[in-house]
Amino acid sequence: MPNMLYHALFAPLAGRETPFLYGPDGSVTTGVQFHDMILRFAATLAALGLKPGDRLAVQAAKSPDSLALYGAAVAAGVVFLPLNTAYTAAEVAYFVEDSGVRLLIGDPAREAQLKDVADKAGARFLTMDADGRGSFADEAANRTADFAVVDREPEDLAAFLYTSGTTGRSKGAMLSQRNLLSNAEVLVDQWRFTEKDVLLHALPIFHTHGLFVASNVILLARASMIFLPTFDPEVIVRLMPRATTMMGVPTFYTRLLDDSRFDRELTGHMRLFISGSAPLLAETHVAFGARTGHKILERYGMTETNMNTSNPYDGERRAGTVGFPLPGVELRITDPATGEAVPNGEPGMIEVRGPNVFQGYWQMPEKTKEELRDNGFFITGDIGQVDADGYVSIVGRQKDLIITGGYNVYPKEIETIFDEQPGVLESAVIGLPHPDFGEAVACVLVPEKGVALDTSLLVEAIRDRVARFKQPKALFVVDALPRNTMGKVQKNVLRDTYRTHFG
Ligand code: AMP
Repeated sequence: MPNMLYHALFAPLAGRETPFLYGPDGSVTTGVQFHDMILRFAATLAALGLKPGDRLAVQAAKSPDSLALYGAAVAAGVVFLPLNTAYTAAEVAYFVEDSGVRLLIGDPAREAQLKDVADKAGARFLTMDADGRGSFADEAANRTADFAVVDREPEDLAAFLYTSGTTGRSKGAMLSQRNLLSNAEVLVDQWRFTEKDVLLHALPIFHTHGLFVASNVILLARASMIFLPTFDPEVIVRLMPRATTMMGVPTFYTRLLDDSRFDRELTGHMRLFISGSAPLLAETHVAFGARTGHKILERYGMTETNMNTSNPYDGERRAGTVGFPLPGVELRITDPATGEAVPNGEPGMIEVRGPNVFQGYWQMPEKTKEELRDNGFFITGDIGQVDADGYVSIVGRQKDLIITGGYNVYPKEIETIFDEQPGVLESAVIGLPHPDFGEAVACVLVPEKGVALDTSLLVEAIRDRVARFKQPKALFVVDALPRNTMGKVQKNVLRDTYRTHFG
């Protein structure tokens, strides 16, 4: 079977003299140029001894060149393993050793450390800087685009994405060609992407959101992207007139709302704003609609499964929900203890099955068995519920579930109440060790700008709303919640900070 991922995503670039990527400074990479780079890079990987199925790890700044490494890996049948640019050398060492990387490409500024990591793992190390220069480019300089694309089966692995691993060891999710392509096909169709689209792309490309959701969709639709190294509201406001669509994490949207230039006039021509990777506050959804007239389309997915659900393109985009299961994706809600389906409307574990669901965790058969059922359902670890109209909402992660005195508390239920209170911007409810209750509910609150929160009023406000055991036994006020690069609140950091509060 010819390499279907290459043929669907990258081959169409070959005849395209029009722009595929726009840089922030007005630079342009045409389809032909990008395709040429992919094949030259693929030829380089092969010349360096990488064979189909070998692993290539890339910890490089976002650039057309680092994106082309993904295309080159697909063309050469090499498994692509992108790494967060924030990872330390010690963290990179774990991924390189765990996955048995053959070639590591990294930042020249950290060459000494990273070369050492690669040497220890018996891998080769080459560099690539933010402009695509470095020893990999030197190796590629004398290669031509004369490369025979490697045949691949739909089940062959295209990428390893390591989970962010806030608890326990990070796991390498193995994604096949079919996993990636099936999801891109559904998303292009659901979100109506065409070659006329220009996506504002300010997400990192080491994560499923920026790499697979955003880039694969644009490639498959034969559209183009404004490819930005980071999210900078100044640049977004300047370039938005040239875009038709944007994908972002919720913090992108809250930061844009902080900018008065971001208004109806600036966004009037835009076709679609999409959000995911972390919960979008219903309040942000509403404020965005009031300011711009656009309803953000929220969707839900994860490293292991690509995208699972989406709000509709036509029809109501319901704030606080992640919409409906995508075509081809089956979703069920089960009791985490028994695995049996819960009654309609009740919260429980979200399980999904479909062509998007990964092939398992690399060299972790036990972990894979715990999370991927024999019947193909993946136990996501997210607690959710489905309303009478079929909209799915996420109540929280199972690991964030609080068990206090034997009772379950879903943080989202309590956070929603606090978020509604005047003066509260957002909140995070966590469980802290407690001598009597095992865990006690605590809430960390962020006030709106310039507001001094009166916590006694907040205690009052929740008193009659929920059972006593769900009410926080401690309230903390902070300026901002800790978040990772994808905008997710790091509850583990909050739990560590306040760990000893109850003794
Ligand atoms: P990651 O594997 O880093 O993409 O993280 C996946 C997790 O992010 C999911 O399991 C959810 O907990 C969370 N997530 C992704 N999208 C959403 C969303 N729209 N709303 C709430 N949580 C989300």
